[in-house]
Amino acid sequence: MNAQTLSTPNSTPAPASDGKKWAIVGGGMLGLTLAMRMAKQGHDVTLIEAAPVLGGLASVWNLGDIVWDRHYHVTLLSDSRLRNLIAEIGLEDKMKWVETKTGFYTGGKFYSMSDTKEFLSFPPLNLIEKLRLGGTIFYASKIKNWKRLERITVEKWLRRWSGNSVFEKIWEPLLKCKLGEAYKKTAASFIWAHTSRMYKARRTGLKKEMFGYVEGGYRTIIERMEEQLQQLGVKIKAGCPTSKVEKGTDGQFTIEFANDEPDAKFDRVIMTTPNAILDRVCVDLSVEEKQKFSNVSYLGIVCASLLLKKPLSVYYVTNLTDDWVPMTAVIEMTTIVDPQELGGNSVVYLPKYVPAEHEMFEKSDEEVKESFLSALERMYPEFTRDDVLAFEISRVRNVMAIPTLRYSESLPEMKSSVDGLYIVNSSYILKGNLNVNESITIAEDAMETVLKSELQTTV
Ligand SMILES: Cc1cc2nc3c(=O)[nH]c(=O)nc-3n(C[C@H](O)[C@H](O)[C@H](O)COP(=O)(O)OP(=O)(O)OC[C@H]3O[C@@H](n4cnc5c(N)ncnc54)[C@H](O)[C@@H]3O)c2cc1C
Repeated sequence: MNAQTLSTPNSTPAPASDGKKWAIVGGGMLGLTLAMRMAKQGHDVTLIEAAPVLGGLASVWNLGDIVWDRHYHVTLLSDSRLRNLIAEIGLEDKMKWVETKTGFYTGGKFYSMSDTKEFLSFPPLNLIEKLRLGGTIFYASKIKNWKRLERITVEKWLRRWSGNSVFEKIWEPLLKCKLGEAYKKTAASFIWAHTSRMYKARRTGLKKEMFGYVEGGYRTIIERMEEQLQQLGVKIKAGCPTSKVEKGTDGQFTIEFANDEPDAKFDRVIMTTPNAILDRVCVDLSVEEKQKFSNVSYLGIVCASLLLKKPLSVYYVTNLTDDWVPMTAVIEMTTIVDPQELGGNSVVYLPKYVPAEHEMFEKSDEEVKESFLSALERMYPEFTRDDVLAFEISRVRNVMAIPTLRYSESLPEMKSSVDGLYIVNSSYILKGNLNVNESITIAEDAMETVLKSELQTTV
């Protein structure tokens, strides 16, 4: 890694550390942001990550002879918290913005749905249906009291406002793309969060769809954050899966690991991992808290990354709505990223979103590869398997907490019943869907609320 000058736009001088040792468990973007901000305030922080590398869902891996994001990532013009963080770590000048197109594959044909004109000429819908669809999106973007939408399922709400035919032709296939069959138990707040994010993004971009990325992808961001954490004195324990967090009679927490790493002691612990592990790992949580965390259902993903000799599509996202297609979208990175950054090749992602317990997770690499490549051959006649330079599969069971009915009311407090143990993770995203901007918002807001009094204590 290059040596970098530490940029400190938060120019308030760091207070003296109060001597407390903080552990942050989970080195995704949320944990990284918390660690950086707390270290800048002068706190003694150790960041603990199960995987050998930092970044979590935003981490990178080898794809053939390039290193690129394990999951596709773009930034929107309206992602102000993320853009501030990128500026704070000195990478603003590496940010590139590109106008992109969105496609639809339906009934065996491709359609562009990138602007109002294309939207209005989308053949599967008649004029009344288009007006109802447009009206629903506009109405959703104007709703302020999103909590109201937690009381009705997304299906019921969309059928009410768009009508049954628009629901079946457009919304249902799209919901299946994003949520799999889990859409049936999802609240209408999901579609509100999604449409308002996209609406805000287009408004900032003069109705155009502008997506951004940092040169080099998330590798550049994660490496820079890691470097700055080290300069700030944060101790990083990667490759250390936390297996137990227990408070002793001395008031200190002992963290145990699932590998040979010796136990470690801390005064305070912040868990940023998905809820699924909390009842097993955080042994002192109350029965009620454990139950509430376990009740949160997660959406998982099986996501293939392909390194191809040439681009596959002119659309950044092509939503696939035909039932026979085994994946839910095709993501073409060269619509955004300069192919030179990809070794002169193209990177394509084929995601399939499924509930955490879905049988898709049991399928072998070969089975997934065969079904995904066969689908590409059928959809894109010019595609051949000779174009495929590398094919890797990422499987993550706990990606996103599904916003079910009355979701926000069912979550336990971030400040747990165990004094000094905090749960600050992406399941607390209530006003948006999972994205890095929201993860950063959760970290920053926690520092201003539940963690504030602890972080202000100085000796
Ligand atoms: C396919 C896909 C596409 C996406 N596209 C975009 C996009 O275009 N734009 C965007 O902004 N966002 C996107 N996101 C969302 C974005 O990746 C997340 O919002 C963000 O990375 C979540 O960060 P986090 O720290 O909250 O969670 P995570 O990244 O899940 O971090 C949690 C960390 O905890 C670690 N952990 C788990 N168990 C343990 C344990 N026992 N001990 C220690 N560590 C543990 C995990 O390894 C992980 O590193 C996408 C996500 C996916 C999956």
